[in-house]
Amino acid sequence: MDIFSLMSEHEQVIFCNDEKTGLKAIIAIHNTTLGPALGGCRMQPYKTVDDALFDVLRLSKGMTYKCAAADVDFGGGKAVIIGDPQKDKTPELFRAFGQFVESLNGRFYTGTDMGTTPDDFVHALKETNCIVGVSEEYGGSGDSSVPTALGVIYGIQATNQVVFGSDGLAGKTYAIQGLGKVGSKVAIRLLEEGADLYVCDLNDEAIQKVILRAKELGATVKVVKGEEIYKTDADVFVPCAFGNVVNDDTIDLFRVKAIVGSANNQLLDIRHGKMLQNKGILYAPDYIVNAGGLIQVADELYEPNKERVLQKTKGIYTTLLNIYKEAENERMTTVEAANRFCEQRIELRKSRNNFFTHKKRPKWDIRL
Ligand code: NAD
Repeated sequence: MDIFSLMSEHEQVIFCNDEKTGLKAIIAIHNTTLGPALGGCRMQPYKTVDDALFDVLRLSKGMTYKCAAADVDFGGGKAVIIGDPQKDKTPELFRAFGQFVESLNGRFYTGTDMGTTPDDFVHALKETNCIVGVSEEYGGSGDSSVPTALGVIYGIQATNQVVFGSDGLAGKTYAIQGLGKVGSKVAIRLLEEGADLYVCDLNDEAIQKVILRAKELGATVKVVKGEEIYKTDADVFVPCAFGNVVNDDTIDLFRVKAIVGSANNQLLDIRHGKMLQNKGILYAPDYIVNAGGLIQVADELYEPNKERVLQKTKGIYTTLLNIYKEAENERMTTVEAANRFCEQRIELRKSRNNFFTHKKRPKWDIRL
């Protein structure tokens, strides 16, 4: 792999090595036009350093688009720790990671992602203020799945408006894949609004919670297994488990009219966006819809204010409607329209502020 050409779109890539704690991490800063880079820190036992590098570069670029779309004062970045989250975590490792983050002097903010938890970053917080998303006891904004789920609901409403001519949630059937932190909240809200569901999850307890609520409300929940979730006669597919669910194998199975969910990277490839369009399925670009959690952690730059987070999350409805309109007017896919919208937003800021500045530091100071 030609690392330098791979890195060419990025502003900076930092390889972090700490012999004493065994920390091996990579921090990628993709673009700071809109503010310091923000992105979670993933921990995974990558087979090779190239695998870790490829992942962090791809994810940090994605964060630039996600931050631009959500209109938060951050740019795109991401970090990966090479290691097994079940075996290799120690407080010292996260403190060492925190020291590397601190050395970037406010250019990069991070927090939990796959394989890491808010508690891990309580250790990093001892070394740097540039940590977001820890629990409220430690000065963070707490569970981000609440605004994420709300954003998904706004995304479904905007989509229903375009597909069915009304943004009501009632009277429709939704097929939800994954009833975890986000999916369960989306499911319960949809049931409360008068919808019926198909659901699937590997965890039976998660399914039972949703069934219980459905019984209380007199709604219908059908449980399906594995691939069956792609084949239902639901109106909308709501992926809330894992990425790459729209691919060559699944695309012919869908009978829904729209796809709106929280999972990251739902399309295996951008061409699957075109294939969905050709099938007449409206696709809500994932990074627009699932930005509620990002909006919440980005808000930590200011005094905490849950109402402001909820109001900003509401903006997902209008942003998505505008993207749908743009895609139709310009005869492009919704993903192309979303990407172009973000690129234009970044370009606009560049032309007004084409010199590099360090942005604000958080007002809170919660070193332990
Ligand atoms: P979670 O881990 O709490 O929930 C995921 C659920 O999916 C679990 O209940 C799990 O059992 C289920 N699942 C896993 N494999 C499955 C399979 N093969 N079939 C059916 N179910 C399966 O995660 P979450 O926080 O709810 O996030 C869900 C998705 O949304 C993830 O892709 C995540 O990256 C994305 N996302 C989450 C947030 C957030 O704020 N939590 C923000 C943005 C994006």
